[in-house]
Amino acid sequence: MPSLTVENYLKAIYQLSDEGVGRVSPGVLARELRVTPGTVTTMVKQMAAKGYLDYISRRGVELTDEGRGLARSVLRRHRITESFLVDILGMKDHEVHEEAEVLEHVLSERVLDCMDRLLGHPTHDPHGTPIPPA
Ligand SMILES: [Zn+2]
Repeated sequence: MPSLTVENYLKAIYQLSDEGVGRVSPGVLARELRVTPGTVTTMVKQMAAKGYLDYISRRGVELTDEGRGLARSVLRRHRITESFLVDILGMKDHEVHEEAEVLEHVLSERVLDCMDRLLGHPTHDPHGTPIPPA
């Protein structure tokens, strides 16, 4: 299972590209993740070695099919969590994003499936954003 940092990189690249299609420059990624360009370069080289993305110096990064699938799974966990916190636990829309940023990295597929079932398999999160299918 990818680390929290890897999951956050995958999610950022997915959201900065056209849902995982197309290249993202390391500079843009560094600004989004609030880290130095050197940190991004080190990390994306490691992620390329693991097969999550394709990295070409100066042209940037593009997710592989595997990386795209993992990014979608993180976003699915994030958005189902937000739905759960609002619809089941009664939290306010504006309160749930920061909570979901943490919980998205620790929920097992089993727990997520139970949350999804209890929610009635929602297609959108409380902010109206589509939830990627399983
Ligand atoms: Zn959110």
